[in-house]
Amino acid sequence: MKKWTMFITALCLVFSLLGIQAPVQAAGFNDVPSRAVKEVNYLTQGKIIYGVTPSSFAPGATLTRAQVAIFVGRTLQLNGQQRATRFSDVGKGNTASGYIEAMVDKGIMLGTSDNRFFPSKAVTRGDMAIILQRAFGYSGNAEQALLKLGIASGMEDGTFGTNKTITRADFAVFLARAVNPSFRLKQSASFESALVSTTNNLNIRTGPSTDYTSIGKISANTKVSGAHSVGGWTYIKAGSLTGFISSSYLRSSSGSTAPDAPAPAPSPNTDSALAGQTIILDPGHGGKDSGAVGNGLKEKDVVLKAGLQVSSLLKGTPFTVKMTRSSDVFIELLDRSAFAKNEDGDIFVSIHANAATPAATGTEAYYYSAGNQHVADSKLLGEKIHARMLAAWDLRDRGTKPGNYSVLRENSMPATLLELGFITNAGDAAKMASDAQMNKMSIAIYNGILDYYKAKGFSVDAYYK
Ligand SMILES: [Zn+2]
Repeated sequence: MKKWTMFITALCLVFSLLGIQAPVQAAGFNDVPSRAVKEVNYLTQGKIIYGVTPSSFAPGATLTRAQVAIFVGRTLQLNGQQRATRFSDVGKGNTASGYIEAMVDKGIMLGTSDNRFFPSKAVTRGDMAIILQRAFGYSGNAEQALLKLGIASGMEDGTFGTNKTITRADFAVFLARAVNPSFRLKQSASFESALVSTTNNLNIRTGPSTDYTSIGKISANTKVSGAHSVGGWTYIKAGSLTGFISSSYLRSSSGSTAPDAPAPAPSPNTDSALAGQTIILDPGHGGKDSGAVGNGLKEKDVVLKAGLQVSSLLKGTPFTVKMTRSSDVFIELLDRSAFAKNEDGDIFVSIHANAATPAATGTEAYYYSAGNQHVADSKLLGEKIHARMLAAWDLRDRGTKPGNYSVLRENSMPATLLELGFITNAGDAAKMASDAQMNKMSIAIYNGILDYYKAKGFSVDAYYK
């Protein structure tokens, strides 16, 4: 083999290991500087960024707020469908209108108090740091976080260049580093969560979407370690492979000692009316947020267990079921309602456990009553599930009542928040610690969801447990 052939082969091998195309392919652009080629190619492969023409990326042009909304929105798999916005300066016809709304819904970008967004305004390096911080959940000072992770380096004068505008090429480099640590200036990924795959033939991909190449597959019940998530994807390490897996096929391995939830129905029912209904299950808290703690239990673990069991039961029906989290990960409140909307959910069921003085006990459900169009259905949903929960554990009836919770208030579908019992009460907590009682409660929530659909005229009798 000639020397240059060996060099190209080695280069291709390195890039294929990194999961990126060789830089000579340059995603069809003829103007990207070499320092940004691999990052631009990577983000172009994932349909995250695009050029100003098929052959020009306009790398030196300043980046606008509208472009940032699109690029980060696509990275996080937000709903970018063009739509009316809350901003007087962003019409439905603006190509960024959907992503702008989605980014503002998630609190990643903000408008002014007089409802303007300034879509054409140039983004500074300081703006970029804050946007990436919010998008990827970095704590502390945004600029320090980017420096520490090796996503950004300082300017030659030793400052961060907070007020300097950022070019399209520079932003592509920073965004690629935030998404995929293999691009960073230093090794900074920490694979801290112990996860388990829940399905066979699960692809590990080079980036957070199915547009990225699969570099291998794992089977169900494979242990993996998770680092950060990018929208609905988790950056993982499995043996020698590092890449992205769809988070919906991962669960926390700490729950692996739990008994298997009852088996799903043996044959799928093709009832299209039920299949068209998407049920969003929302186990509260997670990750760094334990929720209420008491009697040796953490709310985040109890409610995840219930959520996974209810999900497993629903998977035995034609209903479509999605979980805001299926592992021990932290999710912002606004991301939970945004997820539900993004998944076109038809009902939303949030699962929690209460805390107060040791004497407080009982089961309750909440719905939002202050003026969305789903008050009646939200109340019905809460009442139906609450009745089943009461029958299951026979705790004090604390009612189904209005509550101003973010996941209810910010939602766009009938929604209820359930409090199974008080984790701070010895009797309630004993039920939460019991596998048999938790199965009973999960079946109660499941049957309560069926009761709601039955009341709405759906045919669900075949599915009661
Ligand atoms: Zn809670």
